[in-house]
Amino acid sequence: MMGVDKVLIVGWDGATWDYIDPLLARGELPNLAALLARGARAVLRSTIPPFTNIAWPSLVTGLGPAKTGVFDGARARPGSYGAVPTNLTGYRGVPIWRWVNRYGLRAGVLNVPMTYPAAPLDGYLVTGFDSPRGGAEIAHPRDLLRRWADQGHPYRVLAEEIALMDRQNPHQPRGDLEEFIARWVALTQDQGKLVAWLWRAWPVDLMFVVFSGTDSVNHRTRDAAQIAQVYRAADEALGRILEAVDERTLVCLVSDHGSTPAHRYIALHRALHDGGWLRFRPQVAARFWRRLPGALGRGLPRLWRRLPDRVRQALSWPLLRWEPRLAVAYDNVDWARTRVYARSGMGPLYVNLQGRQPRGSVSPAAYDTLCDEVAQALLALRDPEGRPLFGRVWRRDELYPGADPGDDPPDLVAEPARWSDHVITGYPTDPLVRPIPDEGEYGTHTPDGVLVLAGPGVRAGAELKTAQIVDVVPTLLALMDLPLPAEVDGQVLRGALTEAPKVRRAEGEAPAASDAAGYTDQEAEDVMQRLRDLGYI
Ligand SMILES: [Zn+2]
Repeated sequence: MMGVDKVLIVGWDGATWDYIDPLLARGELPNLAALLARGARAVLRSTIPPFTNIAWPSLVTGLGPAKTGVFDGARARPGSYGAVPTNLTGYRGVPIWRWVNRYGLRAGVLNVPMTYPAAPLDGYLVTGFDSPRGGAEIAHPRDLLRRWADQGHPYRVLAEEIALMDRQNPHQPRGDLEEFIARWVALTQDQGKLVAWLWRAWPVDLMFVVFSGTDSVNHRTRDAAQIAQVYRAADEALGRILEAVDERTLVCLVSDHGSTPAHRYIALHRALHDGGWLRFRPQVAARFWRRLPGALGRGLPRLWRRLPDRVRQALSWPLLRWEPRLAVAYDNVDWARTRVYARSGMGPLYVNLQGRQPRGSVSPAAYDTLCDEVAQALLALRDPEGRPLFGRVWRRDELYPGADPGDDPPDLVAEPARWSDHVITGYPTDPLVRPIPDEGEYGTHTPDGVLVLAGPGVRAGAELKTAQIVDVVPTLLALMDLPLPAEVDGQVLRGALTEAPKVRRAEGEAPAASDAAGYTDQEAEDVMQRLRDLGYI
């Protein structure tokens, strides 16, 4: 190692220099400022689309989405149009904590998304926000959290994050914003204590911890002062952890994507419907019955699905005249008449291709022409001021060259011209673009995240123009003087280092990401609902 004894990686989900720099200038993030004074910084370019459960797998493996196989908020259930959340078993590549295990180094992982169920490793692992509620496999070893509880601190990061994210959804009752922020501040401080304790009580060679409040608060409000409260708490937690760390520790602060206040919605379903590529059946979608309270909400969806099609249609007719939106749900798409569809509002689009999709309507011969037609039509869309809504519509091969078709990569990815426009699926009856009302005030993601490196081998004061999210793993491994996995996409960020490291690639078969089982059906539905609440699906 270039004098590196241990490695500490701290993730601030969604952190952006746009929020951090003004706080640094006012002296409000003293611990980050101290780290920067002895470190290097960069804008860290995320994946496209820049979303948490696509970006973290790329960040922790050094592989782009074409290789991790994660492109959207959820993936198709094989042989159906239904979707299941991506999780640990849903991506390929070796997370850095498993890679260092291979070289005899111990690793600790805490609250990193896409790590459920907790698989055994040399060290410890506690899973992140996308764990199922009440999931049994949130920690390895199992007694890790009991030992924290023995210190007088019950582990509450996961349960509290789930509770807070439930209240983050702008389409739900808003609750009390002050309390929401106070709870994130308290949770962030609590997590900082847990990490500092773990660092001392359970020594590992590499620790990887993610704080989620920096992302969550941005989804909930546009108010810079309120967002700053959570960033200050994250800085305080960072300070507490760094107190436990010596100068031979390589410290890396990262985010998976950036954040921005959001001002307008773009309704993807409206755009696809207007183009004639997406149709819904003239029937109330079963999910709407679920909104009814109590036993009605539980029983009606099941009963509704059992009714013959003609009966459902007859009963739907008056209701749909009253509210056409009741027909619009993913499970109510008219596949025979649909040629292009979205699974989430993040921008990935799928052609309903014959021979690939269960009820494909587009012949392989028509595929290329259709993709060009949709791309050109989306690029031609204008807002009321005459500005384009989409800056780029990517073809699959441009964005994800070499992707395995079996991984279900999107055929097109629509990228907004302005990242402050929040792309949603929405309804065909929605305006194509509309202001986000103040009571729904919140933010969305950008591709520009943050990277800070400090410690042995890092050039103090270096400022890189940009770095890619896949560069983090190769740079850390090079500083640790370890070989890189053979298939890594990223580059070593030499501009941040005092001397050129010897970069080696490992040979031979890389270990699988995990041998753990995936979610159960019920767990998958719980996590899907959380991703929907977060606006990811
Ligand atoms: Zn995120």
